[in-house]
Amino acid sequence: MKERLQRFMIGRYGNDQLNQFIFILAIISMVLEIFTRQSLFYTLTLILLIIGYARTLSRNINKRYEENMRFLEKKDAILNKFRKQKYYAAQRKDFHIYTCPTCKQKIRIPKGKGKISITCPKCKASFIKKS
Ligand SMILES: [Zn+2]
Repeated sequence: MKERLQRFMIGRYGNDQLNQFIFILAIISMVLEIFTRQSLFYTLTLILLIIGYARTLSRNINKRYEENMRFLEKKDAILNKFRKQKYYAAQRKDFHIYTCPTCKQKIRIPKGKGKISITCPKCKASFIKKS
């Protein structure tokens, strides 16, 4: 049986990250269908499974590979956005962001240092702020 399956899969695309994602969506949709009894989720599950299996069994390996690359790029872009937001949120907690009155350069100053003189790293102008 395993050998037959292996022979069947020769020349076919198989699994990738995009398919894993599609099958996870299918499972989520299936669970939602069970809980909500909405036929919409039944249809969605079916469509996702068909797409997933069609990609797995596809003989157009280059095209499937390109789809997966595009998927990974988008996934990375979204994850980076989240990472950046998390980073800025952490920064706001510990730092004040001041704008240089002369050149509008943004300057990051640690909080809780009292009144300090800030020298702009870009235009060397000095100004006093409470941190
Ligand atoms: Zn400046």
